[in-house]
Amino acid sequence: MNSSLKRYQVFIGNAWQDSASREVFQSYNPFTGEPWSEIPKCDARDVDAAVEAAHDALYSGEWGRMAPTQRGALMRKLGDLITRDAEKLAAVEVRDNGKLLAEVNGQVRYLPQWLYFYGGLADKINGAVVPIDKPDMFTYTLREPVGVVAAIVPWNSPLMLMMWKLAPALAAGCTFVLKPSEHTSASALEFAALMQEAGFPPGVFNVVTGFGKDVGDPLTVHPKVAKIAFTGGEAAGRTIMENAAPSFKRLTLELGGKSAQIVFPDADLDAAVSGGIAGIFAATGQTCIAGSRLLVHESIYDAYLDRFVASAKTARMGDPMEMGTQVGPVTTKPQFERILSYIEIAKGEGARCVLGGNAAGRPECGSGWFIEPTVFADVRNDMRIAQEEVFGPVVSVIPFREDEEAYAIANDTSYGLAAGVWTFSIKRATVAPKRLRAGTVWVNTYRTASFLMPFGGVKASGFGRENGIEAINQYLETKSVWLSY
Ligand code: NAD
Repeated sequence: MNSSLKRYQVFIGNAWQDSASREVFQSYNPFTGEPWSEIPKCDARDVDAAVEAAHDALYSGEWGRMAPTQRGALMRKLGDLITRDAEKLAAVEVRDNGKLLAEVNGQVRYLPQWLYFYGGLADKINGAVVPIDKPDMFTYTLREPVGVVAAIVPWNSPLMLMMWKLAPALAAGCTFVLKPSEHTSASALEFAALMQEAGFPPGVFNVVTGFGKDVGDPLTVHPKVAKIAFTGGEAAGRTIMENAAPSFKRLTLELGGKSAQIVFPDADLDAAVSGGIAGIFAATGQTCIAGSRLLVHESIYDAYLDRFVASAKTARMGDPMEMGTQVGPVTTKPQFERILSYIEIAKGEGARCVLGGNAAGRPECGSGWFIEPTVFADVRNDMRIAQEEVFGPVVSVIPFREDEEAYAIANDTSYGLAAGVWTFSIKRATVAPKRLRAGTVWVNTYRTASFLMPFGGVKASGFGRENGIEAINQYLETKSVWLSY
């Protein structure tokens, strides 16, 4: 134990406690490369305690009997508490994942909208009276919570990706066990204190911290978990699906992406350059929706590339806590090394590196894990750099000639999370969203999100939708009741 580090405890059944093993692991600040906190290293015993607490809260505790209106009221109160503590929550998250404070502040301040929206839906979840084809029968349906939800989230937007699951789950009446990423556990634990303060009964919300093998595996095979809501990478997604199969758990999987932005010859070039830059360099490219392939029409290819590189060159790198910083560090050291190895692979494949291509050695980057914004031109779509998710500030620029060729290249990936289109043509703006096999298509914008718009992927980007009214169905079961008189 290191006494200079902040020591966290986990939250199970509304009680703060050490892990059963009493062991901890360290969480690092990516800007300094130094550890700043100690996190309980949970295992199957902690998972079991958390799932039992969640199960009891739902099937024998106060929560399971609580009126939906009251659930909604608690959710609105929680939303107000997040607004009160937004700055603190954002700062903790930035310390853990190195994302820009300006962006995380915006994300955290937006979280209450999920609670207000789904909290408002809590008492509007209705079954139906079904007039059936048999005499002397009264038949109706009940809409019930699916059960205990296990939520597993990654490190790039820990609170936001948790909230996309938690708000509809609470509205539906479910209880929740959260496993944050081992790299970013602190904000979830700070958030748990707000759940307690808002007055949620014991067991409704629980956090178990630790690693995929120690915590993720026992959580995803636990017989009392009814549903898993996962955001993360493909490999973990596959393991989770296998773990869920024997007990037939419900699943929502939000996985990776290799999203293409198509710049047509009639595009507003300035807007397409800004959208391209934000698409790949925001959050240092560590977003599932990163526009990591830029497909540019050959007639504007050179002009676009020149402007894109000129703009990327001016990106201010440095301390993510500084409001003027535009590109922060990479969240973890292994991720930093992985991105550098992809850069070498791209060079080896013959992609032309026209910007960056190295770790950033600028003084303002200190000892953090920084990588220069990197642009590869003249990439072929069959190169690994165009097919595999790099999850860093590295973009592949690919020329195209015909519209159909652009759609074919965009779709030529195992993923299907998002796509962007830049055009003033009504025809292209209408046809492209139909041709592109992706869960989200942005036209003349990129990377916008709302609690009202469904989000999710197709193909290897996963299945199920978060956000919007339909997301609540992922947390509900329909029960049919037959009454003979
Ligand atoms: P990851 O898959 O390594 O980890 C995600 C979470 O899963 C972590 O909490 C991790 O501990 C846990 N985990 C790992 N192995 C597990 C197992 N066997 N059982 C249960 N849980 C396990 O992903 P990451 O590196 O944290 O995040 C990056 C990935 O997340 C990228 O692929 C990215 O595209 C994806 N992502 C997707 C979305 C989306 O909405 N589609 C959003 C953000 C990130």
